[in-house]
Amino acid sequence: MEDFISSLTVRLSPASKVLHDKTTSEFKSSLARWSDIDVRVPYAVVQPAGEQDIVSTVREAVKAGIPFVPAAGGHSPWSTIGQDGIIIDLSSYKGISLHPETNEATVKGGTLMKEMEVAFHPHKRFAGTCGNGNTVGVIPYYLGGGISIYTPLIGFGSGNLIAAKLVNAKGELVDVSDTENSELLWAIRGAGQFFGLVTEITIKTYPYSLLGNEAGQRICGTYIFLPHQIDEVCAAVEKVIQNDQYASAGHFMVMQAPPELKQQVLFVAPQVFCSSDEAAKLFQPLIDVGPLQQATMPSTFDKHTGQLDWVCAKGDFKRFTQNGLPDWNRDNIKKLAQLYLELVENCPDAVRSAYNVEWHSPRKSQGGSETAFGHGSVDYWLNVLSWYTDAKNHDYVDAMDKKAQATTRAGTNEADFVSYTNTSRDDPLEYRYKGTKRIAKLKALKAKHDPTGVFTEQLL
Ligand SMILES: Cc1cc2nc3c(=O)[nH]c(=O)nc-3n(C[C@H](O)[C@H](O)[C@H](O)COP(=O)(O)OP(=O)(O)OC[C@H]3O[C@@H](n4cnc5c(N)ncnc54)[C@H](O)[C@@H]3O)c2cc1C
Repeated sequence: MEDFISSLTVRLSPASKVLHDKTTSEFKSSLARWSDIDVRVPYAVVQPAGEQDIVSTVREAVKAGIPFVPAAGGHSPWSTIGQDGIIIDLSSYKGISLHPETNEATVKGGTLMKEMEVAFHPHKRFAGTCGNGNTVGVIPYYLGGGISIYTPLIGFGSGNLIAAKLVNAKGELVDVSDTENSELLWAIRGAGQFFGLVTEITIKTYPYSLLGNEAGQRICGTYIFLPHQIDEVCAAVEKVIQNDQYASAGHFMVMQAPPELKQQVLFVAPQVFCSSDEAAKLFQPLIDVGPLQQATMPSTFDKHTGQLDWVCAKGDFKRFTQNGLPDWNRDNIKKLAQLYLELVENCPDAVRSAYNVEWHSPRKSQGGSETAFGHGSVDYWLNVLSWYTDAKNHDYVDAMDKKAQATTRAGTNEADFVSYTNTSRDDPLEYRYKGTKRIAKLKALKAKHDPTGVFTEQLL
């Protein structure tokens, strides 16, 4: 390994870094991740400064048989590796260019969500971005699906990915588009992390006018209710979902209240693209239930991923999983709320967890099926955020996480289970990629492009 690091270091441009002295603060801080679950210490962290540096790192690692993982925002459990391998940390290779002639944008390496929003805002254009995910990496989000509040308007991230540059399992940089390596374009739209290291993507952008206003404005309501109000709250949320006049998305969360309320609450955050007056009318059913606290916040696109930016804090033990749901099922949601109460009662240090059902409306039920992702018809997602601090609670919180997933799947045929590819790799392939043809095609492409599993053993 030492020889590999020495020979790699001389190949990289001077602005690149190879961190391998574990006692330095630079090495230690490069390992800070969204979650400390199963965090490992690699032999080295390579921070390439340019595209050619990335290519050289992959090529040399492949040649020497050194395992590696790419890392962008570090929110997943898969961008960490132990002593036998290296992390290719893309945080020093970033950039966004908007091409006015096509209104497409190129996003490089380790660019984060917030950075993309801020870059697009002056041009009055938007694209799919993560909810509450300021520091999530743009490229992984697009490669593995990309669920956003804009989904009712523009579909999922993967369907908006139109080209890429990718370092393949031989360490070659290849162009991927409709006309070059088009089978890889299909594959990276939903399973991208298993086919290569993507140095840049080209994505569609849309004018703010599609949001119904020139300011790029979204109105986000926040309403806090007590658990015993759950039936009325569900009924009010259903009215918001059923409106088909304005595109809306939102979260129905069971979580711990702000400190002054000292208990669990139902937190409803509908988000809609219309004027404040129109939003007020739309949200009226929620106000009629009598929330303990309420607010409506207009914000422009450059701030949309920051609604709950504390969720992006690094450290502690956290896990985030998303499962597609066939419908809004009030009975299952009520059981989910009960489970949350059980979690916090038995495990007080998990109070920052949240069990959350996300909706997208009006129902689209279309789009995205031609990509590897293929979940274009899913309009409801269970989002389980587990967040705790005591390592002895790993098993208990994990079991509750699984119970929450099982609860919201009750009544659904197993053949229709949907696990989000960007947050689940342990669930059966049949949950993550729908249809035998899609799975067979993915496996055949993996066997052709990465037969030895340089980019994980997934699909082999
Ligand atoms: C707080 C929070 C909010 C979220 N909100 C949403 C949401 O609203 N919608 C949604 O769809 N998802 C959401 N997610 C899930 C998120 O999209 C995925 O976890 C995403 O993969 C994280 O990307 P990252 O860059 O932060 O993570 P990383 O761990 O750095 O990367 C994720 C995976 O991609 C690989 N990878 C990184 N860069 C590259 C590259 N250039 N080429 C190939 N592979 C690469 C890594 O090795 C790893 O396997 C959220 C996650 C969190 C924790």
